[in-house]
Amino acid sequence: MANRDPHSTRIGDKELHPESMMMGYGYRPELSEGAVKCPVFQTSTFVFKSAEEGKAFFELAYGLRKRDPNEELGLIYSRVNNPDLEILEDRLTLWDGAEEAAVFSSGMAAISTTLLSILRPGDVIIHSEPVYGGTDFFLKHILPSFGIRVMSFMAGRGTADLEKMVDDPLIAEKLAMIYLETPANPTNALVDIQAVANIAHGLARGDRRPLVAVDNTFLGPIWQHPIDHGADLVIYSATKYIGGHSDLIAGVALGPKALIKQIKGMRTILGTVTTPWTGWLLLRSLETLKLRMTSEMKNARYVADFLADQPKVMRVHYLGRLRENDPGYRLYRRQCLGPGGMISFELVGGEAEAFRFLNALQLFHLAVSLGGTESLAEHPASMTHSDVDPEERMEMGITPNMVRLSIGVEHPEDLIADLKQALEAV
Ligand SMILES: *Cc1c(COP(=O)(O)O)cnc(C)c1O
Repeated sequence: MANRDPHSTRIGDKELHPESMMMGYGYRPELSEGAVKCPVFQTSTFVFKSAEEGKAFFELAYGLRKRDPNEELGLIYSRVNNPDLEILEDRLTLWDGAEEAAVFSSGMAAISTTLLSILRPGDVIIHSEPVYGGTDFFLKHILPSFGIRVMSFMAGRGTADLEKMVDDPLIAEKLAMIYLETPANPTNALVDIQAVANIAHGLARGDRRPLVAVDNTFLGPIWQHPIDHGADLVIYSATKYIGGHSDLIAGVALGPKALIKQIKGMRTILGTVTTPWTGWLLLRSLETLKLRMTSEMKNARYVADFLADQPKVMRVHYLGRLRENDPGYRLYRRQCLGPGGMISFELVGGEAEAFRFLNALQLFHLAVSLGGTESLAEHPASMTHSDVDPEERMEMGITPNMVRLSIGVEHPEDLIADLKQALEAV
């Protein structure tokens, strides 16, 4: 134990599971007075042993010379690096099987920094629709002002529209990224990551090809691993399941070493890194990630089955309720490892019925966000998706009678009792 390499992922020839490594991976107790837990390195800057050492660290940080084999980037300044964040990044790579990770001050910081570090004026980005509200605004209103052309196709309808777009050589030649959100929020519509990756690889020209990025916030990192299906980059709002307690805001980007290095360079300059304290909270959260997400998924299955039996409920959108003859079923089985904890459903009626239901809830909290230990309910049409064009919103299936639930770790019978009494109030 004492001499165990903190970056070893095996015992003998047995490969360990990520959940077994969340309590120790990447951390050396002997560097912190033997503390079993990594302390909070609440410091802005780090003392160099000598001027020569400071010079060597900066040469690496600014890419002025090549890294010697086994040479690690020394600690400089907490906008560049910090022990809590480095250990957190190492642990985050394990779930998705990624080479490297970068943590950010929010999911939006991860998304904007990643896209700004890869896209250039004149480039094209194609994204699936719908995407998270902040992402939608960044794509449609910020990127075009930097000379980037933004196009989209609808999730849940195959890749024919995407193929048609890239048939145009002017688009194919300038396409720098395909950005996906699957399952889509709040409808749970799926995009086939492998099919999109195949299209991106088909557009390779020399050593350049469009990158495939996936926002994996809804199912990951437990129930979906986009890199296994050909994605280049995986992005998270760590505010949601990874943080998991609705008490912090953070983000993550994962991918190959060279790409993450480029993204971290932009992160250093934009200053979008997170703080040591948030990093420490995320280390603590990762220890129970699998437990929480498993419990939330089991609860969601009960809740979805209950809702589907209610006469006042018209339709339930939950991946765990897809049946063999449903469109999306085969893709779900191939791409996802479990149905997760997000449910949306449509009440008989309209906004008035949805509001009466939401106002009657007692155990569920009426709030946006998701992925925390407590169950939340919200009204997508008037809250999370209120700035989407009303016509587009209907086309995406976000109707006035739709309610979205994020299922927590409470006892499922209590959740169902609350839903039952709220339905009676409708
Ligand atoms: C919440 C969310 C984001 C944005 O993350 P923040 O941490 O709030 O900045 C991005 N994508 C998805 C799918 C989200 O749910």
